[in-house]
Amino acid sequence: MAPTRPQTKQLKAPDEPVPLLSQEDATVIFVLGGPGSGKGTQCANLKKDYGFVHFSAGDLLREEQDRPGSEFGERISNDIKEGKIVPMEITVQLLKNSIWDTIQKEGVRKFLIDGFPRKMDQALKFEETVCPSKFTLFFDCPEDVMQKRLLKRGETSGRADDNEESIKKRFKTFVETSLPVVEHFEKEGRVVKVSAVPGPDEVYEDVKKKLEEWGMKPESKK
Ligand code: UDP
Ligand code: MG
Repeated sequence: MAPTRPQTKQLKAPDEPVPLLSQEDATVIFVLGGPGSGKGTQCANLKKDYGFVHFSAGDLLREEQDRPGSEFGERISNDIKEGKIVPMEITVQLLKNSIWDTIQKEGVRKFLIDGFPRKMDQALKFEETVCPSKFTLFFDCPEDVMQKRLLKRGETSGRADDNEESIKKRFKTFVETSLPVVEHFEKEGRVVKVSAVPGPDEVYEDVKKKLEEWGMKPESKK
């Protein structure tokens, strides 16, 4: 006897996921670049001049790791040391909560999401369930420059991953897993690329110029 097949007419198509926010509700800019490329430094500049709220995915993960009672603490701490990507459900949820809280409490709707998305699954999940990004600001930097900066930062940062062994692993993850995300958005014409090799001031001048091409101006000059 032929096996009974499921009755397709009884099956319901799954609901399409709808993002929490549309591009009209909020401006989201992803900020990517290898470890030590200067994402955090440039985000601080943009926060000051453009009125963005700045969320670093790495900082949110470190906060969650240190939160007493977190069920994810050990997993996060291990992944960070190994330069691996923490499972996307954790990071996307942390970002979603932070964005939603900010909109509720402060009414600000402009966000820089620093160090995220580092893997294709995160990129798709975030844009599907939280908010589609306007573009990705990408800081392009050769590894030898980044390594020098990270080792220098490691002298004072207290970060568990600013050491030679972790840095090597982070570079590998960046090339194999995170660069494809940049390439994906590039194909869609949604990448703003800046060279991160010069000093911070010169890089920022370039960032401002390129944001202007996207119709974004510092708040004081509005
Ligand atoms: N991380 C992650 N998912 C993210 C962002 C960060 O798993 O979406 C982890 C990953 O292990 C990474 C570490 O957090 O190596 C540090 O990220 P951070 O952005 O703080 O480092 P940076 O690139 O700024 O040096
Ligand atoms: Mg950073």
